[in-house]
Amino acid sequence: MTTPPPPVSEPDPSALTCPGDKVGPCAACQRKTHKYGSGGSPLCQWCMAAAQEQWGPGVRYTSTRP
Ligand SMILES: [Zn+2]
Repeated sequence: MTTPPPPVSEPDPSALTCPGDKVGPCAACQRKTHKYGSGGSPLCQWCMAAAQEQWGPGVRYTSTRP
């Protein structure tokens, strides 16, 4: 099991470590995340993890499956 994501009012940790002008809302939950520029993602890390579970390990991150 993974840790449940914090409330969407909490920014993604990546949003705290990147320049402020690279921060934007997650495409799925509107949480603040590192959206633009190098290393950015349209999804926050929690939505990305969920998407990768759906799409399978082809999305670079391999999750353990039963
Ligand atoms: Zn999200």
